[in-house]
Amino acid sequence: MCGCSGAVHQLPQIGASDLSLAQSEVQAADAVVVQDASHAEIVAVLRSATKRLHRPARQVCHEMNVGVCEWDFHLSRAPSMNAAALPDGGIVVNRGVVNYAANEEEVCFVIAHEMGHQAADHVATARRNRAVGALIGAALANAPDLGAELATIAYSKEQEREADYLAALILYRSGVDLDKARGMLVTMARLSRQKRTALLDTHPAGPERIAGWDRAVAEIRASNGRLPPRA
Ligand SMILES: [Zn+2]
Repeated sequence: MCGCSGAVHQLPQIGASDLSLAQSEVQAADAVVVQDASHAEIVAVLRSATKRLHRPARQVCHEMNVGVCEWDFHLSRAPSMNAAALPDGGIVVNRGVVNYAANEEEVCFVIAHEMGHQAADHVATARRNRAVGALIGAALANAPDLGAELATIAYSKEQEREADYLAALILYRSGVDLDKARGMLVTMARLSRQKRTALLDTHPAGPERIAGWDRAVAEIRASNGRLPPRA
């Protein structure tokens, strides 16, 4: 019960074979295609994705009963593939998320991941741990381009794993295709390999996340969408 990882739940362990499978998959994956959607298209995709997730995500959040379950969505014009959970329930999604996504399910994954950070109260923990609250406030005031400032919000690896787990759970309960959503993790891992990591500063991506996702999805399907035991 030391609470040092910052995660609320016990998360499945990743084995060496899971990791090497994910590594081969990333190496063999197709090059990442970036679209140039119009503002209206981006807004429509984000609205649709958020609507699909909203009720199941709030239900998960209330079951957990530790974080912020009222969320405010903001669209940033930043082209990078990034999103963030901010204090007091703010969720910022960059335009780039939609342009890098191959389908709406991948956009759903990104939004659900940030909902997971909120539901698990990672935002408050990060603020306590790193005292970046003031910086985050300044970043919001200086919207629309939050890119550089968002790099100041860093969660622990365990918290990132937990946000991915909760995202999988939210998608499962929302009836969103988990296998389609998974493509976003492969895209992020590929971008990371191509050293385009500046895009991904706040969300380190790689084969570990894919392997962790697969474990999470297997567990969630087996439990029919229950929350894992508390840490
Ligand atoms: Zn995250």
